[in-house]
Amino acid sequence: MSKKIFLIFFTLCLLCVPTASAQSQNSLSALNGKTIVIDPGHGGSDSGAIGPSGILEKNVTLAVALKVKAILNDAGAVVILTRSSDRDVSNIKNAADAQELQARVDVGNQNQADVFLSIHANAFSSQAAHGTATYYYSGSSMGSVLAADLQAELVRAGGLADRGKATANFYVLKRTNMPASLIEMAFISNPQEEQLLNSAGFQQKIAEAICRALNSFFS
Ligand SMILES: [Zn+2]
Repeated sequence: MSKKIFLIFFTLCLLCVPTASAQSQNSLSALNGKTIVIDPGHGGSDSGAIGPSGILEKNVTLAVALKVKAILNDAGAVVILTRSSDRDVSNIKNAADAQELQARVDVGNQNQADVFLSIHANAFSSQAAHGTATYYYSGSSMGSVLAADLQAELVRAGGLADRGKATANFYVLKRTNMPASLIEMAFISNPQEEQLLNSAGFQQKIAEAICRALNSFFS
């Protein structure tokens, strides 16, 4: 190696070290100070979909939401969960579906959240249905951007089939005042994906993917 080439190589190495460490420290820096409402789908009297081996959607969505909250808090975000235990969100006894969903919307709107994210697992009559999808409200251009960021990170981290992002008329997307998305992490009606959804490792991967996507959205 000539002296000149050695010097170039040495200089490049010196440049690499601080750059790499700064990037890892700041990788979620856009989340600092943001108010994010996370809505774990279903809960309490509503189990959501039930997998072939009996795994309940409401438990999986809560487990992922709690992992998301931990990462977002570390990144300096203000995180509000619509529920942090196995319960209905509405205080109305035997609330109708719309009342229960409105209670979740209220958490987002009353806290003036920067983003509202609802976490769900998909289900279908055929056990063969599989993959990851993300939804947003048709009139929301920022919702579309948020959904694209989420879908890309979820598919990359989870490794499941990419069913894409799509518009949907879901109550929590329609009635919230801020960019909102609803993710369907995987199909709980599919035996393989049910087991993934129930594993702490997969839940953590999904949680980290959500946080990277939110960081991209705010960047
Ligand atoms: Zn659901």
